[in-house]
Amino acid sequence: MTSSSKFSIITENISSLYSADADDNSAAEITGNNGDGGWKKELANATTSAGQLLKKLQLERYSEQIDKVPDFRCLVTDSYLRKITAGDIDDPLLRQVLPLAEENDREIQLSGITDPVGDIDAGVTRGLLQKYHGRALLISTGACAIHCRYCFRRLYPYQQLANNSSVLAETLSYLKHHADIDEIILSGGDPLVLDNEKLAALIDELEGVPQIQTLRIHTRLPVVLPARIDKPLLRILQDTRFQVVMVIHANHARELGEEEYHKLHQLAESGITLLNQSVLLKGVNDDIETLSDLSKRLFQCRTLPYYLHLLDPVKGAMHFQVEKKTAIGLIEQMTIQLPGYLVPKLVQEITGMKSKTAISHI
Ligand code: SF4
Repeated sequence: MTSSSKFSIITENISSLYSADADDNSAAEITGNNGDGGWKKELANATTSAGQLLKKLQLERYSEQIDKVPDFRCLVTDSYLRKITAGDIDDPLLRQVLPLAEENDREIQLSGITDPVGDIDAGVTRGLLQKYHGRALLISTGACAIHCRYCFRRLYPYQQLANNSSVLAETLSYLKHHADIDEIILSGGDPLVLDNEKLAALIDELEGVPQIQTLRIHTRLPVVLPARIDKPLLRILQDTRFQVVMVIHANHARELGEEEYHKLHQLAESGITLLNQSVLLKGVNDDIETLSDLSKRLFQCRTLPYYLHLLDPVKGAMHFQVEKKTAIGLIEQMTIQLPGYLVPKLVQEITGMKSKTAISHI
């Protein structure tokens, strides 16, 4: 395939993916209609309403507590669903994906804002954000395989990136003119929702920017749709000239079952550096035992705990907020109980700062 025909595939596909925004990313739009019997099929069959979710988990008696038509719609893969304990409305995995009526409670959500980390102002082209020295973040799709209720981009206007085939051309031109950027971060949405052909074409284009050395992929798919880590994907990541870092996103040890364990091992054996970022969430992982178990499980999965984020105060997610003082106490206990390499950095992203802000009692 010539470089220019590859390029038109990417730009067409990226613009169509952007138009499938986080509120309307039906699996058919994301993947095309030619499901390949693997991860695409699982994505196409994902649970897409809170009512269905309650029914599948024998929790219909709680239907009064849910938001039946949430602004940020419900989306849960079967792989994730299988890890939730049926009959338990307080299950920490369920809490991450079940739209609750609290999301619309004015009082609870009072201090929430729409763009808590300043993504809109950090845009240097349509789809490329640069906040920090030396690296830039490409919003490669608006679609995800799961909708996490606390997502700081739950209100991100992905649709504004739609319908323009020059989006990637602008981005590549920006990167070529900024020699200080040597790391590109694929984010979204979730970049691994792009299929292998699109992802390979995108990486191929980015490889044409000579000073970029590191490809970082921010993804929750190894945790919520492990079948996505297929052999062609491993080959793409092995064949690129980039040094590849994958930052996964798990908040609880139970998210990392046997299949996830094997897929993360395959990624590690392919030479990929694996890190994890978590969000500290009330009712999910805000106790020392859960956080310690997560770090230990990540290590079994050849993944190091990298960041523990304080909640980004996005409207609709404020009921997950844990007080800073409590967070500091938890990290202090982890520091006492675990070796240093299993203690994540407690951080907060503050709009306008030149790096993540480390939170400490000092
Ligand atoms: S946290 Fe990540 S995977 Fe979850 S909805 Fe947000 S972008 Fe998607």
